Amino acid sequence: MNAGRVLTESGVDTDELRALIHPIQPEQVSLRSAPRLMMRFWGSGIKAMTLRRRIFVDPKVLNGDKAKLSLLVIHELVHVRQWHDLGVLGFLGRYLRSYLRGRRDGLNHRDSYRAIDLEVEAREIQARFR
Ligand SMILES: [Zn+2]
Repeated sequence: MNAGRVLTESGVDTDELRALIHPIQPEQVSLRSAPRLMMRFWGSGIKAMTLRRRIFVDPKVLNGDKAKLSLLVIHELVHVRQWHDLGVLGFLGRYLRSYLRGRRDGLNHRDSYRAIDLEVEAREIQARFR
């Protein structure tokens, strides 16, 4: 399965979205079931993880409601674009620094995670397609 197919089937494959994730081609991003071992490290509420051009999704969500899945895919495609723009070390370094800044400022784990600038951008873009 690829991310482009989910977008097409849900009717959210728009020029606006394409511009926001440029130059990523959703057809070239693979979507697969997250292995159990990987999910063991996910906090509660985490439904997917993106590693460069691969999106790993909780199998329940992958086989569940199409509209919910497509919103999740939009969020993760923003991360694919961020990985592309920043490079592997750039992405991971910025993600971690942003998280640690939140912790240093006294936020708990969940709030620090939500305050990561790369997550904020992904959520903002995702919200446009609700
Ligand atoms: Zn995210």
